[in-house]
Amino acid sequence: MPQIETLRGPVDTSTLGFTLMHEHVFVLSQGVPENFPTVWDEEAEIAAARDRLRELTAVGVQTFVDLTVQGLGRDISRLRKAAGDVPLNVVVATGLYTYDTLPRYFESRDADVMAGLFVRDITEGIQGTHVKAAILKCATDEPGVTEGVEKVLRAVARAHRRTGAPISTHTHAATHRGVEQQDIFEQEGVDLGRVVIGHSGDSEDLDYLQALMKRGSFIGMDRFGVDIYLTTEKRVATIARLCELGYAGQMVLSHDASSYFDWFPAEAVRATVPNWHFRHISEAVLPALRRAGVTDEQIRQMTVDNPRRVFEQQGSY
Ligand SMILES: [Zn+2]
Repeated sequence: MPQIETLRGPVDTSTLGFTLMHEHVFVLSQGVPENFPTVWDEEAEIAAARDRLRELTAVGVQTFVDLTVQGLGRDISRLRKAAGDVPLNVVVATGLYTYDTLPRYFESRDADVMAGLFVRDITEGIQGTHVKAAILKCATDEPGVTEGVEKVLRAVARAHRRTGAPISTHTHAATHRGVEQQDIFEQEGVDLGRVVIGHSGDSEDLDYLQALMKRGSFIGMDRFGVDIYLTTEKRVATIARLCELGYAGQMVLSHDASSYFDWFPAEAVRATVPNWHFRHISEAVLPALRRAGVTDEQIRQMTVDNPRRVFEQQGSY
C-alpha cells in the first residue's frame, strides 16, 4: 500500500479521502514577525488555526495540503502546535516562493544546491524536525520566468526526479504562466502527469486550461473564495464545462486560503473576500457544482481520487 508523509508521520494513501490540495495555515511576510513580534498575537492565532482546522473535519475534509514554503514564512514547529492534535492529515511542502529574485544565499549558488536542500526536507525532515515534506512548490507570476524563478523551477524539477515527490505550482493564470512551467519541467525530464499547475481556476480560458491538461498535468481549481479574481459562479461554470469535455480526472479543488495571512490587514481581507475560508468548497461550491450538472462521481474524482493519484505516483526516475 503506497504511503505518504504527513505532519504526524506516514499514512496510507488510501486514507487520504477528501483532500484540499492547496491551502496554508499561516502566511507571514518572512522576516517581519521574526524581527517585530508585536505585529501579531502568535499564541492567539495558533489557537484560532486549531479551531479552523477542527471545523474542517466536521465538513468532511480529511486531508489538507499546506503549500507554505520558504518565502511564505514556513515554520514547522508552529504548524505542529496548531495542527498536531487535529484529526486531519496535514501534508507539508518544500520549495521556494518568489515572483522574481532569490534570497541572496541562493543567488550565488546553482540550482543543484537548492535541489539538495529540498531533497533533504523530503528525505530527512524540515527545520531540524522529523516532519518530512511530501510535495514540492514553486511559483511563476506576472514577471514570468526571471533568472531567479528559473533556478527554482529547475531545482524543484531535479528534487522531484530524485525523490518522486509531486510538484504543485503557483501561476498567474491570466498570462498563461503554466505553459512556461511545463516547458521547463519537460526540459528537465519531468513527467508532466506528476505536476499540478496551480491557480488555473483563476482563468476561464478553456483553450489554455485544456492545453495544460492535454500535456498530462493536473490543474488546480484552487482559489475558491478569491472572488475578486473570478467569482465562485464563474469558477463553477468553468469546471462544469471541463467536466462535460471529459476532464474531471485532471482537476483538483482548493481555496488557497489561510487561517492567518499578514499581507493585508485582516479587516480588509474579510471585507473584500468574505468567502475565502477553508469551508467554502464544502458549504457552497459542491452544491453549486451539482446544480451545474457535475455528477457525484465527478466530484469524487476531483476531491478524492485525483489527489490520491497525485500522491500515488511515487519513486525517483
Ligand atoms: Zn498558495
